[in-house]
Amino acid sequence: MQKILNFIGGEMRAPVSGRYFETDDPAVGAPYALVPDSGAEDLELAVAAAKKAFPAWRDTPAAGRAKALRNLADMIEKNRAGFARAECIDNGRPVAACTAVNIMRGSANLRFFADEAVRFSGEKFKTEKIESYTLPQPLGVVATISPWNLPMLLFTWKFAPALAAGNCVIAKPSEVTPMTAYMLANLANDAGIPGGVFNVLHGKGANIGAAITAHPDIPAISFTGGTVTGTTIYAAAARQLKKVSLELGGKNPTVVFNDADLDKTAEGAIAAGFSNQGQICLCGSRLLVQEGIYEDFKKAFIARAKEIKIGDPLLEETQHGPMVSKAHMEKVLDYIGLAQREGGKVLTGGKRCIVDGRCKGGWFIEPTIIEGLPMECRANQEEIFGPVVTIMPFKTEDEAVALANGVEYGLAASVWTEDRAKADRVAAKIESGIVWQNCWNARDLRTPFGGVKKSGVGREGGRRALEFFTEEKTISRIA
Ligand code: NAD
Repeated sequence: MQKILNFIGGEMRAPVSGRYFETDDPAVGAPYALVPDSGAEDLELAVAAAKKAFPAWRDTPAAGRAKALRNLADMIEKNRAGFARAECIDNGRPVAACTAVNIMRGSANLRFFADEAVRFSGEKFKTEKIESYTLPQPLGVVATISPWNLPMLLFTWKFAPALAAGNCVIAKPSEVTPMTAYMLANLANDAGIPGGVFNVLHGKGANIGAAITAHPDIPAISFTGGTVTGTTIYAAAARQLKKVSLELGGKNPTVVFNDADLDKTAEGAIAAGFSNQGQICLCGSRLLVQEGIYEDFKKAFIARAKEIKIGDPLLEETQHGPMVSKAHMEKVLDYIGLAQREGGKVLTGGKRCIVDGRCKGGWFIEPTIIEGLPMECRANQEEIFGPVVTIMPFKTEDEAVALANGVEYGLAASVWTEDRAKADRVAAKIESGIVWQNCWNARDLRTPFGGVKKSGVGREGGRRALEFFTEEKTISRIA
């Protein structure tokens, strides 16, 4: 089995303890690689290397840092097929979507933050008596901790702004999907990133993740993952007054009004509900449909869900792959069972499915639609993070807003109506960091990204990410 290694000080290193654990290919349901079970000793080596590299990287002109990030983007794009195949095997997302989204957004993230590195600057202020300016300065050695659901996309989204702003990074990818982070680390030296500037430590959250959070020489942590983990990290970081950015879970509404374009909306709601097997924090898992269009919309939505092509994720035509792990598949199936006990009726899907051939042991679940659940039930309140959409009718605009807001999360929402004024009114009232109008997951990387309520603390995206990874110093003099 292939052994993944840590990347510390510009070198591939085995974990000091010599311990590894297995990671699985979810499409076949079997282990295929070994992951370092890193701990505090590995972190000490990485922090020492990063501290040593920091002064020179901080003092490298922004254009120089940008060039290294662009080189890395070029190298990803050159080997996009290899990266996409690796991500597909590691995560289960069909290879076509891995190429178009996970990998190409990975390189786009690097290019975007390369540009931001050059654009980023402080502010100037002037009164009659005082003139001031600010210097945004990097923090030193910072950490990023990322999840398994969009491995390459989120890994790059987090470390690129940290490097762009002049920090050295300890990056911890998810232990469930470590492969493309490992492949990327293999390119860092050739991209011109000096040794120690970018370090990748693999391992379990409870070991290396907790060690990173507790380390006194890491003043900032950018985390994307579940709300429970985020709460643990927030508490640990508070003890040392670390800066934290938390991008957490979601239970996002898709709100469809009577005057929505039925076909376009059904198509959008399918993408929102089932992309990446529903394993995207932004997925629209609660479908709220106004009563005048409810029955017609439901029919169109079910018909489209049944057409989704489930299969071997390595085949170009496959649209729906396996769940990321056996444990996650079981969790999602448990929620489908719970939803039925809570009174829900499964309109389509609802079961594990067996894909013939090489994937017969894979962890697949059918796209599932459930009707008849109250908003207060657990299936409508808790993040299932699988191909499961609940559908319910509403009468008025106010009721739609109340249902949309009736959960503890507040990451994203989509609103579907041909009435622009209504779309704006509803968008303003929905409690979430992002609202899409007549579309889903349309992303301009300059816009703020993040959640409210239990979906997160802080904003990423554009210059906000560089602001997180810097502190502004104010310099004033008498004019
Ligand atoms: P997770 O919280 O289990 O793990 C995320 C990362 O945290 C992993 O690298 C893990 O090893 C690490 N970790 C776990 N325990 C830790 C600890 N005690 N200290 C430090 N690090 C620790 O999340 P997951 O299951 O990998 O990902 C799915 C979750 O991520 C979902 O809830 C999803 O909504 C959320 N997510 C949010 C966004 C967003 O932008 N808001 C994006 C993608 C995913």
